[in-house]
Amino acid sequence: MLTKDLAICIRAVDYSETSQIVTFFTKANGKISAIAKGSKRPKSAFDGPIEIFSHGRIVFTDSDREKLATLTEFESASGTGDFTGIGGDLFVLNCCYFAAELLNKMTHDYDPHPELFESFLLFLQNATEKENKNRILALLILFQLSLLKEVGLQPVLDCCANCKKSGRVELAPPSFNPAGPNVPEIYFSSTANGIICRDCEVSFPDKIRLSQPAANCLSNLKQIAQAKEKTLNEIEAVLIHHFTELLGHKPKMAKHILKA
Ligand SMILES: [Zn+2]
Repeated sequence: MLTKDLAICIRAVDYSETSQIVTFFTKANGKISAIAKGSKRPKSAFDGPIEIFSHGRIVFTDSDREKLATLTEFESASGTGDFTGIGGDLFVLNCCYFAAELLNKMTHDYDPHPELFESFLLFLQNATEKENKNRILALLILFQLSLLKEVGLQPVLDCCANCKKSGRVELAPPSFNPAGPNVPEIYFSSTANGIICRDCEVSFPDKIRLSQPAANCLSNLKQIAQAKEKTLNEIEAVLIHHFTELLGHKPKMAKHILKA
C-alpha cells in the first residue's frame, strides 16, 4: 500500500554506495524509517541524497510495519524546504540536531502527533531566521516543553507538582525582591515531573533549586521571550537533566548546547 504524507527528515544514514536509510517525522503517521533506494545516485527519484531537516511530500510503502518502509517519492518543499540558513550557524545547527534527536527518541514509530509535526517545522523555520542566541534558546526551550506535552509527559509548572499548593503568585510573586529576606525556595524534580515547593523538596532527592528568574519563566512561559541568557541556560540545563532522566542517558547533542 502506498502512503502519502508530509514529512521532515530527522535522520539520514548511508546504507550502501547508492542508498540511504532515512527517518522521517511525518504529519499523519508519526515517525517512520524507510530505505531510499538509489537516493545517492546522481539521477535518482529523490533529486539527490536526502538531507537531515529537508521536508516535503513523501510517498512510501508500509505494508509490513515491522520492517523498514520503502520510500518511493520525496518532493522537497520549495522555498522553505531546505532550511539553508541552518548550515551557516553552528549553534543553530546544533540546536536543530538536538531537537531532532529528542523528537526521534521520545516518539514511537507510527504514533501520529500532527501538532508536534507543526511545532517542529515552526521551530526549524524560526531557528533559521538567524536571530540571536537568546531567541534560539527560547525557541528550543518552548519546543522541548511542547514535545513533553505531546508525548503525555507535560511537567507541572504552575503549582507544586507534589502538594499542588501555591499557584503561580505564591511560587513567584511579581513584587519579589531577590535581595529580600524571604527568598522563596522553588525546585524542579524529574521524579515529581515538575516544580516542587519548599515543604515538599525534602521528599525529592533529585531536585534542582531554581533561581527566581528561572522559576518565574517556567511558571509563566511568556516571560521566556524576555529572559536573560543566564536564565535561559539555567532552564535548558534543567531540561537536559530532565530528558537524561526520562531517556536513561544523556542526549548526544546536549554537550553542544550549553558549552558556549
Ligand atoms: Zn509542595
